[in-house]
Amino acid sequence: MKQFKPSSTVVISSKAYEMRKNGIHVYNFSAGDPVLSNHPAIIDVAKETLDEKMSPYAPVAGLPELRLAAAKWMNRRYQSQYDTNQTMVTCGGKFGLYAALQILLEPGDEALVLAPYWVSYPEMVNLAIGVPKIIKTSEKTDWKIKAEQLRSHLTKKSKVLILNNACNPTGVLYSREELAEILAVAKEANLTIISDEVYSELVYDGAEFVSCAAFPEHSSHVIVIESCSKNFAMQGWRVGFAFGPENIIKNMTALQSQSTTGTSFISQKAALGALLHADEVASYVREEMDRRRQLFFQTYNRLFSKKSTPVASALYFFVKIGEDSLKICEEILTKSHVALVPGVAFGMEGYVRFAFADQESEIVKGLEALKTHFHL
Ligand code: PLP
Repeated sequence: MKQFKPSSTVVISSKAYEMRKNGIHVYNFSAGDPVLSNHPAIIDVAKETLDEKMSPYAPVAGLPELRLAAAKWMNRRYQSQYDTNQTMVTCGGKFGLYAALQILLEPGDEALVLAPYWVSYPEMVNLAIGVPKIIKTSEKTDWKIKAEQLRSHLTKKSKVLILNNACNPTGVLYSREELAEILAVAKEANLTIISDEVYSELVYDGAEFVSCAAFPEHSSHVIVIESCSKNFAMQGWRVGFAFGPENIIKNMTALQSQSTTGTSFISQKAALGALLHADEVASYVREEMDRRRQLFFQTYNRLFSKKSTPVASALYFFVKIGEDSLKICEEILTKSHVALVPGVAFGMEGYVRFAFADQESEIVKGLEALKTHFHL
């Protein structure tokens, strides 16, 4: 039997979970799991749906009204031109990514993955019997890939580029010009870009988020993955979206019909509640996460000698830690009861990822606990 690795972030959180079960308080900087009440716009619709006492199957591609609301939200917020047929509802952004790779890759095709990468990308490519081709980016180039660098990694087998903007774990954002250049190289090379944009609403200090969907001339080779998990703090509801060319969405829907059958009916209704009040719900989450981001960086800079500027987006801080990141994270977990994710899980040894999605008091106390044993 072929063995696939479980996601490394899950490995760390399970260890922390075991410690908690033994009565130890663990500060959770490992999970990008916003600890935040659902906005009333979500809960109200979910309650109304429960009161109807019916939980039918939803259409496989998602409730038509939700697909429409999602397409309208994308078009209004990110200047795309999607219609319902180019939109499907998935079980979180994760299944959208999985389905897109399954549909696009033939055995042996290469999917270009930029490191540091979100932990699941390489294994998802393996699951599609593709070959993950890792391209390292560096702190010096702001963790971004330039069009020229991308071109130099292309081979005849290159089929897909997975681009994560806004980025987990680095928090960097690509500008319109940078995206235009990358998209042009991709078009030239017949490469489909899977643009993972699940943090698109979590952009701070007035920075602009530019979606790969904002370039209509490239729509035939772009699939955008979105999610309610982070943007609307609905991670447990498991609602995501895939946007792209109609034929690809149709094939992804066929795959969904033979696997998950789609997202639960009540979750889709709840997501509709969020999307019908998208700006309000997103602001509520963004403002709360921004407070945590600022508090995290103020506290970090007060306690540790290496000063850092707050990240521009998402929920993470990716910072240099030392040679063996896994060993260091285990030591930190054991001594300070602070859970972090080692850089090696993102394909970037020597670094560590902090998440600032937990409540404010946890952020401060957790960093103080870290300080008692470690000097960063
Ligand atoms: N993409 C990135 C970059 C993520 O960080 C995550 C979750 O952490 C996902 C996709 C999947 O999120 P979900 O399946 O909850 O939408």
